[in-house]
Amino acid sequence: MNCEICGKPIYGKPITIEVDGAYLKVCDECAKYGKVVNEKKKLGAKEVNVNRVSRNQEEEEYELIDGYGRVIKEMREKMNLTQEQLGRKIGIKPSLLAKIEQEKIMPDYQTLRKIEFSLKVKLRK
Ligand SMILES: [Zn+2]
Repeated sequence: MNCEICGKPIYGKPITIEVDGAYLKVCDECAKYGKVVNEKKKLGAKEVNVNRVSRNQEEEEYELIDGYGRVIKEMREKMNLTQEQLGRKIGIKPSLLAKIEQEKIMPDYQTLRKIEFSLKVKLRK
């Protein structure tokens, strides 16, 4: 995994620190930016924050299926939605949706989830 502050790969065990109430897994060098949290304290109420961190990691790791643009276009047309209608539904510009369908742009994780939800398709491997 990578350090959540500097982005460098962490070798060995990452250090969990607290910065403004958020938990980050960081490398040795970045541990100085927050309060080091010891493992026992992470249990209980603080667990929620730890889960949020691992979801963030998942966001960076997703991989799109081959031909995702075509799948989106087909499903959208099947549901009789124009690019503008679907774009409005998921909160992106139709021009951006068009580029995603042409696979010129990879949707970010939030957009991807909304497209999957709206069209009831799975676009991740
Ligand atoms: Zn770092």
